[in-house]
Amino acid sequence: MDARDKRGHDEGARRFGGGHAEPLGFWAGAVCAKAASMTDDAALVLFSGGQDSATCLAWALETFGRVETIGFNYGQRHVVELDCRATLLNAFNSLDARWAGRLGDNHTLDIPTLATVSETALTRPMEIAMTTKESGEAGLPNTFVPGRNLIFLTFAAALAYRRGIKHIVTGVCETDYSGYPDCRDDTIKALQVALTLGMDRRFVLHTPLMWRDKAATWALAREIGGEALVDLIREQSHSCYLGDRAHHHAWGFGCGECPACKLRADGWARYSAAS
Ligand code: ZN
Repeated sequence: MDARDKRGHDEGARRFGGGHAEPLGFWAGAVCAKAASMTDDAALVLFSGGQDSATCLAWALETFGRVETIGFNYGQRHVVELDCRATLLNAFNSLDARWAGRLGDNHTLDIPTLATVSETALTRPMEIAMTTKESGEAGLPNTFVPGRNLIFLTFAAALAYRRGIKHIVTGVCETDYSGYPDCRDDTIKALQVALTLGMDRRFVLHTPLMWRDKAATWALAREIGGEALVDLIREQSHSCYLGDRAHHHAWGFGCGECPACKLRADGWARYSAAS
């Protein structure tokens, strides 16, 4: 990382409150010998095409000198989000000349196995509901795909290893979420340790949204890219679990009824009221 990029990295993290999991002291020394082979000014963003990951992509483009993206086709019902990725990436390129110069390769991985090992409303045509005590998973919506973020981040790290990228950015959030245990800050911190040890490379997992609710996520987008970025994310990002791109609302497209739509609509309402 040269001085300019280092400055940009620190500046971005400070301005936009980017969080990342710090290493634990006892193993940090063991892996620093390998740090030289990892590029410090590049990041890989888990980019699904949703509001959170689009905001994270903008954050990464402000923070790092080179940014690559990764998305997953895992048999999700809302596979339309993968189409939104291409639209968003093109628009990011034309939104800011600096971003266009930093945006690198976009990777899409097919992992259909995830849908075959899990039976959830995100990958099967069943009604979205909260699980019951009888099912042993009380309190979680049946859209929870067990281990999904662990698997995504592990694949992302494997790709980052090959690409020589140290920084991985994910839009997981503990503040305003559906109760998915693999979105928790402690899960991400533990995974950073596991990935760094397991691949013998220093990885840093960044979670710029971990402590922001959906309204604050809209505010972060405005802070980074102004109204143009807010408009872009609102119109072109996709959150709806049912893949609905037919119904348009003040907060973008979606069925308006599923948990993802309700969360997005509520965040937009609170953001708009405060603006
Ligand atoms: Zn919906």
